[in-house]
Amino acid sequence: IISKLPRVGTTIFTTMSTLANEHNAINLSQGFPNFPSDPKLTELVSNAMNNGYNQYAPMLGVLQLREAIAVKFHKLYATSYLPESEIVVTSGATQAIYTAISAFIGPDDEVIVFDPAYDCYKPAVTVNGGKAISIQLTHPDYHVNWNEVQNAINERTKMIIINTPQNPSGSTFSKEDMQQLERLVKDSNIIVLSDEVYEHMVYDGATHQSACLFPGLKERTLITASFGKTFHNTGWKVGYCCGPQELMKEFIKVHQFTVFCVNHPVQIALAQYLEDDTHYLYLPEFFQKKRDLFLDAISGSRFTFKPTKATYFQSVSYDAISQDGDQDFAKELTTKYGVVSIPLSVFNANQLDFKALRFCFAKTDETLLKAAEILNKI
Ligand code: PMP
Ligand code: GLN
Repeated sequence: IISKLPRVGTTIFTTMSTLANEHNAINLSQGFPNFPSDPKLTELVSNAMNNGYNQYAPMLGVLQLREAIAVKFHKLYATSYLPESEIVVTSGATQAIYTAISAFIGPDDEVIVFDPAYDCYKPAVTVNGGKAISIQLTHPDYHVNWNEVQNAINERTKMIIINTPQNPSGSTFSKEDMQQLERLVKDSNIIVLSDEVYEHMVYDGATHQSACLFPGLKERTLITASFGKTFHNTGWKVGYCCGPQELMKEFIKVHQFTVFCVNHPVQIALAQYLEDDTHYLYLPEFFQKKRDLFLDAISGSRFTFKPTKATYFQSVSYDAISQDGDQDFAKELTTKYGVVSIPLSVFNANQLDFKALRFCFAKTDETLLKAAEILNKI
């Protein structure tokens, strides 16, 4: 067998969550909440099931949900997407990303990706015959050097993938960053894939700079999002992709033969739940409190950090504790101390190691305090 992904093994999320279970350790690795989704929402799902929404959904998604997504774009970003042709409900953001890449990337096409990059981008490019070109964000502030991006662009560059707020670093692109990107792609055929799954988790009064706010980006960008992240139910795997009609036309051709359609009762429930925008507007305050509780609790430890700007991940440096590689240190932290994290080097080309770990703080206060108590003793 000739492997299409010879260098790909099991993802770090599976690896670390498995290790967490084996050692009965506190799992701050894989990004999922350990508290329940709103009972109002789960009730809407069971109502939808009881009301007979148990067969295939429409291929593009339940229209009422696509309309609700369009309303959200209008409210938050004063911009419009057509529910009939510019919004598709997907099986999580992961499927949206894979489908978008498959729809546009073929042999020898180049795709620019910013490291540390979330793990599903590069394999999707490779499997389709393309070449991922990594650009390293600076450490520890995770800024982009836009001259480097300009120099990386050539006639083979077909796509640039951005992720703001960024997983795993918790950094964001500023308005100026987005304007720089807009300037670089304006007169080109480059498609932008903007992964915005953490759009509602931005802290300290900052606002999310969605690609749809910049006209020169919006016209060439596919945006991906995840209800699992927004509504604390990562196991439901429902998200969406939206973009201009001519790009979505190609996206839909691939979508219909990968999943065809997505979980029907969950879509019905989400459409109803989205009628109340407070269900996502409370998120910055909710998660900022968790971030601050966790950081306050580990402020006396030997881990060093800058408060994360966004996402529900905090990266910390363990430079003062150990000079071991981050994958070894993360394993030791699990097996010896019982707290599980994600080592950041796995998201960098050549596993560039800054001796940093990512902790997920989408956990109950009790879990965060218990983990902090251990981290303080290391
Ligand atoms: N993009 C990023 C940056 C993520 O962190 C995740 C994980 N939630 C995804 C995409 C995938 O989202 P989903 O679980 O909806 O497939
Ligand atoms: N997005 C989640 C994280 O960053 C992981 C999802 C997965 O396991 N693939 O932790």
